[in-house]
Amino acid sequence: MKFELNGIITFSKDVLEETQTDIIEVLNDRSIFLKGVPEGKENEASKIVDYKFNGKELKLNMISGTYTRAHEGIVRLKKPIMEKVGRKHQIGIRDILIERYVITIPAGEEYIEALQSKNLKVPECEVEYDKNGVKIIFTDMGDSELKRNIIDRAIKFVRNDLEKLEKKDSQDLTFDVCKIAPCTIVSEYKTTRASVFEQEPTEIAEAKGWVRRFVGRGQWFYTAPMTKLFRAFESLIVEECIEKVGFDECLFPKLIPLDVMYKMRYLEGLPEGMYYVCPPKRDPEMFEEFVNEMMIKKEIPVETLKGLLRDPGYVLAPAQCEPFYSFFDHELVDVDKPFKFFDKSGWTYRWEGGGAKGLDRVNEFLRGECVWMGSPEFVEKTRDDSLLYAEKLAEKLDLEYWTEVGDDPFYLEGRKSEDRGIEFPDVPKYEMRLWMPHIKDERKGVAVTSANIHGTHFIEGFGIKDYKGRKVWTGCTGYGLTRWVMGFLSQYGLEFEDWPELIQKKIGKMPEAPSTATWPIKN
Ligand SMILES: [Zn+2]
Repeated sequence: MKFELNGIITFSKDVLEETQTDIIEVLNDRSIFLKGVPEGKENEASKIVDYKFNGKELKLNMISGTYTRAHEGIVRLKKPIMEKVGRKHQIGIRDILIERYVITIPAGEEYIEALQSKNLKVPECEVEYDKNGVKIIFTDMGDSELKRNIIDRAIKFVRNDLEKLEKKDSQDLTFDVCKIAPCTIVSEYKTTRASVFEQEPTEIAEAKGWVRRFVGRGQWFYTAPMTKLFRAFESLIVEECIEKVGFDECLFPKLIPLDVMYKMRYLEGLPEGMYYVCPPKRDPEMFEEFVNEMMIKKEIPVETLKGLLRDPGYVLAPAQCEPFYSFFDHELVDVDKPFKFFDKSGWTYRWEGGGAKGLDRVNEFLRGECVWMGSPEFVEKTRDDSLLYAEKLAEKLDLEYWTEVGDDPFYLEGRKSEDRGIEFPDVPKYEMRLWMPHIKDERKGVAVTSANIHGTHFIEGFGIKDYKGRKVWTGCTGYGLTRWVMGFLSQYGLEFEDWPELIQKKIGKMPEAPSTATWPIKN
């Protein structure tokens, strides 16, 4: 891959000649770009092809291969430049802007033609083609775009499409496995109400003080009214779905050792989608230094802290059913006595990176997770029931929904091949979505229930066997509480009087939202 960048570093004042000389010294120091680059790959790291000073600006023309890519290179310059000239010349860096960034993703001629004819659109950039490959072109990217990581996503986007073409039948494993095309709608319900609410609920909930954005990304503080609604839904889902299928409640651990994730093959499929946890070293003296440094500097010395932590050993549960498979690790089971567990004991986590927004896509969420094990017939019947009751509940509440064949069952997501001779079900995942009427340009729904069958995937991974050698399968259904509430508010709005009786009764009396003189902000 080739990265060509034209960028501008803007300083706080005109860059005088003396300052320029110092900056040029930094620009000539190639070691800045070579840090972390494996031996023999030095040629692939960022290079400065050309630069020019103009008033407050330093214009840069950089190129790179795939190591210390040009956009990372330009950001890396910031620190050494400031160390060199910041104090000495009383100058700061105001801004880094990438005016134009051309990334060439190599591709065979026949694929280039195929992409061209399907008119590939990549979010937030232009696409061009030449004989070397696909060019994606970004213009005027600032700090915030860089932080959102749109470059990597765009590259991934193109590469995914290329890979699909290159391995025509082997797309994602999901497509191989699925007997019904992903995204096919298998059941649907239209609301009987004449009109639905049409606004985005997140903002209104914020203005009412039902939720408050937490300092952590993709996290919310849910205050009393929202919590009441959550609990109402939780209780309905337990009564109307989980108890009807007959699951036994357990309390699942939420801090999951990496080894479990490895056996699940989750580390292979979605390693970038989790929070990793490092326990500290038990060394009070070393921590004393950390505390002292913090008191003196009046900031958190993160670098020092890193040295006090052990290697990452856990993740925060992303799927919630992880402990179930681990529970049965190398057990002999009897498929005539199947297991049906469920857990609603706490938060689970996904790292959505820049993707987190509103109340529907969050990094921390509540879910009722059902997970079961037994014969293939039992596992399929249980999955169908768990979904059917969810659909019935939506109908009772007159919530418009549809159920489609999922294209990303969590245990296959991101994976390309399977060589263990695993048995897969005909449809690994169904996903039920509640319509979100405020999204106008397409019919969009929030996924509220996802019903999965894993075939022998986890049975194989955890060495589980039936004592008579019969087939054992597993399945899991997640009822996303956060998502159900979001879908409900999208269709019904935030006025208690407008809600269906079933919910009103569950809630009884709505508690008041907290407020201060300055919050929530009134418009
Ligand atoms: Zn699950």
